[in-house]
Amino acid sequence: LVISRFGQHADIETSNNERLRCNIRRTVSNIVCGDRVIFRRAKVSAGDLAGVIEAVEERTSQLTRPDFYDGVKVVAANIDQILMVSAALPEFTPNIIDRYLVACEDMGIEPILILNKTDLLSADTLAEIDAVLDIYRNIGYRVHLISTKTGQGIDELKALLVDKNSIFVGQSGVGKSTLVNSLLPDSQILTQIVSENSGLGQHTTTVSTLHHLPSGGNLIDSPGIREFGLWHIDPDRVTWCFTEFREYLGGCKFRDCKHLNDPGCLLTTALKEGKISQLRFDSYHKILLSMEDGRAGARNPR
Ligand code: GDP
Repeated sequence: LVISRFGQHADIETSNNERLRCNIRRTVSNIVCGDRVIFRRAKVSAGDLAGVIEAVEERTSQLTRPDFYDGVKVVAANIDQILMVSAALPEFTPNIIDRYLVACEDMGIEPILILNKTDLLSADTLAEIDAVLDIYRNIGYRVHLISTKTGQGIDELKALLVDKNSIFVGQSGVGKSTLVNSLLPDSQILTQIVSENSGLGQHTTTVSTLHHLPSGGNLIDSPGIREFGLWHIDPDRVTWCFTEFREYLGGCKFRDCKHLNDPGCLLTTALKEGKISQLRFDSYHKILLSMEDGRAGARNPR
């Protein structure tokens, strides 16, 4: 099991829970945190590493990020679930949630919505936000309310993480670091070991690391992994990633239906009949629009 990868090296954990630092054979394609690999032990002498990674097992899922050079870059493997953290402070923004949900659907990784900082909410605000979260519950997404400060919902969250490879994502300021640190008292120590030995200096702070949670399950984390973009997704794919829209796709009058003002559009009919929510419909168009803007920007860089 790959605990972390840096340059041509990786720290792995054997089935006997032994940690080894390995070289990666050049013929082995990109290895990332969470990969399962075949390795052989190497003779250890001064400066040598303890093993060589010979092959990588097929992945059940890949966490990808847009990459300037390669288009898309794999940053972690075999993730079972993505915990999408939001909070009323700095701001509760369903459109951001939707952007993450599209990315999760696109990658085929189950998202779970976490609302943090419930301690800051008045009963009225909580009810308002909960009504929005109901939209997501009705689509079939799991939603959990927590407060890292008071501990509300944390035991249930820990139970969700057992036997899974999870990652936390979400906007800056929603409480991800606080949450990860509360789940992983030794996280800092692990990060330090990587940076001390790798000789890569500051780069190592962005290395994704797999942590075993004391309460069960694994957490893959790094500052860089917590946010990912959407721009590489095809617009049709975005539509499909709104899972509750799927049953209305393919039957519109016009094949190139934009699902906006087009006559004979099944999606807008579903909206009028209250079968899909206005919030998600608007969010969908906002995402498409922002992606168009992004592409225009890329063509005409200022
Ligand atoms: P990150 O950017 O998502 O990693 O967010 P941080 O973990 O740095 O948290 C941002 C701020 O929110 C910090 O000041 C935390 O102390 C605070 N914070 C985190 N969780 C909670 C919570 O459950 N309740 C309250 N009131 N504050 C929290």
